Amino acid sequence: VGTSSVKTVNPFTNEIVKQFDVMEDKELDSKIALADSTFKTWKKTAFSVRAKLLHKVATIMRNKKEELGKLATLEMGKLLKESIAEVELSADIFDYYADKGEEFLADSPLETPIGSAFLSYEPIGVLLSVQPWNFPFYQITRSAAPNIMAGNTMLFKHASNVPQCAQIMEDIFIEAGAPEGVYQNLFIPGKKASELVADERIKAVTLTGSEPAGAAIAAAAGKYIKKSTLELGGSDAFIVLDDANVDEAVEAAVNGRMWNAGQVCTSPKRIIVEESIADTFLEKVKAKFASIKPGDPMDPETTLAPLSSEKAVEDVIKQVQKAVEEGATLLLGGKRIDRKGAFMEPTLLTGIEPNNSAYKEEIFGPVFMFYKVKNEDEAIELANATNFGLGGSIFSGDEKRAVNVARQIETGMVYINHLTGITPELPFGGTKGSGYGREQSPAGIYEFVNAKLIRTT
Ligand code: NAP
Repeated sequence: VGTSSVKTVNPFTNEIVKQFDVMEDKELDSKIALADSTFKTWKKTAFSVRAKLLHKVATIMRNKKEELGKLATLEMGKLLKESIAEVELSADIFDYYADKGEEFLADSPLETPIGSAFLSYEPIGVLLSVQPWNFPFYQITRSAAPNIMAGNTMLFKHASNVPQCAQIMEDIFIEAGAPEGVYQNLFIPGKKASELVADERIKAVTLTGSEPAGAAIAAAAGKYIKKSTLELGGSDAFIVLDDANVDEAVEAAVNGRMWNAGQVCTSPKRIIVEESIADTFLEKVKAKFASIKPGDPMDPETTLAPLSSEKAVEDVIKQVQKAVEEGATLLLGGKRIDRKGAFMEPTLLTGIEPNNSAYKEEIFGPVFMFYKVKNEDEAIELANATNFGLGGSIFSGDEKRAVNVARQIETGMVYINHLTGITPELPFGGTKGSGYGREQSPAGIYEFVNAKLIRTT
């Protein structure tokens, strides 16, 4: 057993499975140099060449979905069926940009009183992408697909606890025929990623992760005047209006919150229910909690996976205990599950007042924060009372009413009668402390291109 920070620890057993050496500066330098030199040729390739590569990557991922899914489950613990669905979604995103990229990046004419003008979308160079472990394949994909299609080359710094997922994605690109240097994986600690932003050959940086990591990357990007996008944490509101279908709302809220053991940036973390239906809603949530089955994430019968690590469990339990010390009521759960592995009980907190730290914090685990509100206006005020602004859901029998509420929610995404979703065609991203920039959809491909104006006479 060595001491590398880059390693696979199976959260179902807490055993170290495999360790990787952190890359030395010399090796890093040659990888950056390769990405930079490959850019000079990659940027000139036809869209059809890039599309072919991405389609091939998608095909390999689908063919290997069991193997890849098992790797994600081994490294960060999520249910195998969720891992496989993630691999399929990632393949869809590769196909989407392969099919649409050329159309999105076609010259775009502009109206001008003099001469004629158009925008030419041009790749900018080597992009550093820093990603978290919670969706080990999807997080990588949503920056890889649009940017490689746009003609950039990429360096990936994946989370230190999913090195095998990180490595296999590089292997898949090579198997798919990517020229060396288009896609490279870096085994480095997080702090080192912020330092790399200073390198002249790295032109831009994107990060999905926590606020402190985002702030470190954004500070470095600001210092060296480089474009950045950030997808950070969230504490999404799940608003249930009094005319909602309560059963459907309960089903979505509980499933959404237990998905990935609660470790989803857009999971419904604050459940806000109008008072006339709040007690019924809560009783149904409790009943559904009773049917949750923790266990081996590889077993299809399991409905609650371990968290990603022992430390993750400790951190979430500390947050819950603090919330209780500061006056919240613990209705269910709050402890680790008495078994091997990084398991935590499904937890239900109520009575969280504005002076409680949990009121404004994100809890990254299977924890419901339940709020009863007098009316729609109070629901909106509460939804907007955190510095996060990622996603959100509104459940109501009246779509017009729900859309009106949605317009008043300060987030990047709101879904009506549905959990905040993920599809290649729709943008993903936040506002306020949840970051800036968008991934997926047409918007995702414009973040790291130079929209150059060319005017003729
Ligand atoms: P994290 O600690 O911020 O890790 C994310 C990535 O950033 C990892 O690769 C990490 O490397 C790296 N990192 C850590 N410190 C860094 C630094 N100072 N400079 C540069 N990179 C650094 O995030 P986490 O806590 O594991 O992940 C969960 C968070 O991500 C939650 O807040 C969640 O809401 C958010 N998230 C957001 C989205 C979204 O789309 N908005 C999606 C998923 C997750 P190491 O692993 O080596 O530390």
